[in-house]
Amino acid sequence: MMNSKEGAICYRTPEETHTYAELYAASDALSVWIDENLPADGPVIVYGGLEFRMIVCFLACVKAGRPYIPIDRHTPPERVRAIAEVARHTAVLEGGAARLPGEFGRVLAAGEIDGICARRDGASLPASKAVSGSDTFYIIFTSGTTGGLKKAPKGVMVSYDNLMSFTNWILRDFGIPSGSVWLAQAPFSFDLSVMNLWPALMSGGTLAPLEREVTDDFTALFRVLPGLGLRVWVSTPSFADICLMDPSFSGETQPDLSHFLFCGEELLHSTAAKLTERFPNAAVHNLYGPTEATVAVTDVPITAGILASHDRLPVGAAKPGTDIVIIDDEIIICGDSVAKGYLNNAEATEAAFFTYQGKPAYRTGDAGVIEDGMLYFKGRLDFQIKLHGYRIELEDVEHYLCRLPSVNAAAVVPKYDGYKVKSLTAFVVPADPESADRKALKQELRETVMEYMVPHSIIFVERLPLSQNGKVNRRALIDEVNA
Ligand code: AMP
Repeated sequence: MMNSKEGAICYRTPEETHTYAELYAASDALSVWIDENLPADGPVIVYGGLEFRMIVCFLACVKAGRPYIPIDRHTPPERVRAIAEVARHTAVLEGGAARLPGEFGRVLAAGEIDGICARRDGASLPASKAVSGSDTFYIIFTSGTTGGLKKAPKGVMVSYDNLMSFTNWILRDFGIPSGSVWLAQAPFSFDLSVMNLWPALMSGGTLAPLEREVTDDFTALFRVLPGLGLRVWVSTPSFADICLMDPSFSGETQPDLSHFLFCGEELLHSTAAKLTERFPNAAVHNLYGPTEATVAVTDVPITAGILASHDRLPVGAAKPGTDIVIIDDEIIICGDSVAKGYLNNAEATEAAFFTYQGKPAYRTGDAGVIEDGMLYFKGRLDFQIKLHGYRIELEDVEHYLCRLPSVNAAAVVPKYDGYKVKSLTAFVVPADPESADRKALKQELRETVMEYMVPHSIIFVERLPLSQNGKVNRRALIDEVNA
């Protein structure tokens, strides 16, 4: 699937670079070892951060016909154990210095993997051994923002064909030149990372990883960013919001940046407007999709026209091979992007995956409408709450809060009395902390929303907590309010 020039750089950080030749040789050697040493019928867990060795491991697994399960090194031990219990993996490959917390059967540490990869005797497996067609290529465990730890985590099985349909779309329809430098910021256990990893490698591109130690430290982040020489930006909108806090984050310091690809959460009008202003020569794309439909299935470039005519941005039109239908307000995705189901979980698979007009289909749990061929995301169905009998879309309240000039960001969560919602609490990042005023804010909000939608409590914060995947962590805020 990859035929890039061997001397080209596939991975570059300020400290290290690696060529395609290295990637091919190391993954060939490791794939031979996997073929000879691991049972054929099980996935392999690959544990670590954004190291080059992680990519070597992924490629080695699929060359040896084994699906891989990426687990990020920041994953809480309890969740790693829960994933391993579901996965029934044959081995764990540690891609970095971080060691797995606990007992996980056969574990290969980074040093052992390096030893195997260094055996450059030219041995490789025949292409017929590699994952292909409907075989599972990777398994990504969903973030648990809606399920939490109490339920067993669900591992989404994405096939080779699913992945090719996605990657071919990104490389064909977005006008991204081959050999581009791609931001790799999302952890590999978040399927947003698939949007940079495989399209970059399949077009002779260079991955520019940004580890969490850097993204968590603003000074380091703002120092490192301009030096990456990025052409393609892939992240959640929340991460772009952080970068926009640096006034020098613009087309002047990032002259090569021509494509922003956003997915994973709502792209707010304010974020897109700031980006188009600071990067007048770059295209800003809003993509939408769940892990269960292979990363993303819709796209729309956010133009000046869309910004002028829309308050809440559309998520766009479906990719080739995919149909979107709305059934009872819910977005249903049909076609060749729909994944195979959940690993070792027939019950959950049956509940969410089905056949619609002869095609594989998935119930997203997202509310949506289609107008003029464009899909509009209307919030999670499970973020619809009832307060004193009124149906409220929490994201709707957030949307109106964020439109106020005095608000930079906001998240609204329910406060419960048993199972019943008693009131709403808004966490608000004020535009100017000095002049932040709860009463005035509520008054402003009353001008655009019904009284019952105005949150009872407003808590001013410096920034909203983000989940491991870089989305606003509503679960943490719900816990905080209901502690
Ligand atoms: P995940 O499987 O972690 O990627 O989460 C998928 C969910 O993120 C979707 O079902 C949506 O609820 C949300 N999501 C993804 N992309 C967008 C988008 N562009 N706008 C709004 N919500 C989105």
